[in-house]
Amino acid sequence: KDLNQSGWNFDNSYSRLPETFFTSQNPTPVHSPKIAVFNKQLAVSLGLNVETLQSEDGAAVFGGNHIPDSASPLAQAYAGHQFGHFTMLGDGRAVLLGEQITPTSERFDIQLKGSGRTPYSRGGDGRAALGPMLREYIISEAMHGLGIPTTRSLAVVTTGEEIARESYLPGAILTRVAASHLRVGTFQYAARWGSEEELRQLADYAIKRHYPEIEDEENKYLTFLQEVIKRQAMLITKWQLVGFIHGVMNTDNMTISGETIDYGPCAFMDTFDPATVFSSIDREGRYAYGNQPNIGVWNLARLAEALLPLLHENQEEAVTLAQDKLSDFAQLFESNWLEGMRAKLGLFNEEEEDKPLIKDLLDMMQKHRADYTNTFRALTIDKPEDTNLYGTTEFTEWQKRWEERLGRQQESMDASKMLMRNSNPAVIPRNHRVEEALEAANNGDYSVMERLLQALSNPFSHTPDQEEYTALPAPSPRPYRTFCGT
Ligand code: AMP
Ligand code: MG
Ligand code: MG
Repeated sequence: KDLNQSGWNFDNSYSRLPETFFTSQNPTPVHSPKIAVFNKQLAVSLGLNVETLQSEDGAAVFGGNHIPDSASPLAQAYAGHQFGHFTMLGDGRAVLLGEQITPTSERFDIQLKGSGRTPYSRGGDGRAALGPMLREYIISEAMHGLGIPTTRSLAVVTTGEEIARESYLPGAILTRVAASHLRVGTFQYAARWGSEEELRQLADYAIKRHYPEIEDEENKYLTFLQEVIKRQAMLITKWQLVGFIHGVMNTDNMTISGETIDYGPCAFMDTFDPATVFSSIDREGRYAYGNQPNIGVWNLARLAEALLPLLHENQEEAVTLAQDKLSDFAQLFESNWLEGMRAKLGLFNEEEEDKPLIKDLLDMMQKHRADYTNTFRALTIDKPEDTNLYGTTEFTEWQKRWEERLGRQQESMDASKMLMRNSNPAVIPRNHRVEEALEAANNGDYSVMERLLQALSNPFSHTPDQEEYTALPAPSPRPYRTFCGT
């Protein structure tokens, strides 16, 4: 059958990079691929044919059993600091099919995750379990709904095979869509094992793909570093503003494009506490909520180190230039964050006192164990009685300060409320709702997940039907825990 009816339109620029950056590798076919979820809207925007792909043809491609004609499958090489330790990594269970050129001439990586062993698999089986792949699908699409740059999920197929973990689990493959899969770790790999010429080729490639506007700059590699710093400062700000905890901010999980990548142990914070950690392996809180900006700049320093040979002939000069750019991160983050927090409180202009006003609210939230999302929601929809803070003198005093502050700006109360509605989501992928959807899916019922996805696609509508997704979990004696790499 002519699978080109599916709308695949691959161009594979990554495969034209020096061979040191990848290994040509087909996915390993699976027993009986079946579509579990398929993102029709995303498929359409990619120029794909929904009718064809939602059938067995799609399952064959997303399962890795059929390679579209224009694809050129490969596994990418990269390195990275994992919890601070430098290691050789690479796609150990993923294959890039190619880069889909969309009807509007955009370019997106189409990658199968869980598609079998590659030369970078080390001890792993190259496979993935259904639960974690569905979890990535839900949370990445939730991030997209929240307006946060992210890789996206086109489909999950079950493979008809079991994989051995602590028990036997149903196998699955996720089709991930990304602006690219270039990582800080790709540059670390090039700097460590490639020639200077190869490092330059990689940087030129990244600039062309993600920062074409700087191609003619005099020191374009320094500007490149600066622009990645800016995008990451913006990305991490957006995480902080919605209470997203990535959970495994290793340098191989930080993109050059500025998209969120690698949804393993991530989760959204409920009770506001900067020390919040969900990942079972993050015992020291390296990747705790409040530490994400620090880790961001630490990772960017690793990118800067990798780029040093390109920044200046004199390496001492190069270090000075890089440090100067890295020192911008804190300021960028702070101003993005203040702007975002002001919007969450309906503030359009800037006053000196805004920072303490915000800080005092957060401190109260922490002290009274208030839910982060629901507190801002309560302020947005004028239901302060919905928060744990309500009834305390300090909150009454804070509210008065806030109302006075709102009164000191030109914009109307209606305009403030509109700004707040657009800045404070009602729906986030709450851990208990995600778990509930996964459990139903594991039993073959995908309707719970479909409904959750629907609600997550429109988190800012503040309509009554969203109410059920704002409910907090029943109290639990054990904290919520997440896991990587299943
Ligand atoms: P992550 O913690 O998701 O960033 O993954 C770290 C590294 O482990 C990457 O190189 C992955 O490709 C690899 N990896 C994770 N799970 C597996 C698996 N089941 N088989 C082979 N490689 C894996
Ligand atoms: Mg990873
Ligand atoms: Mg992962």
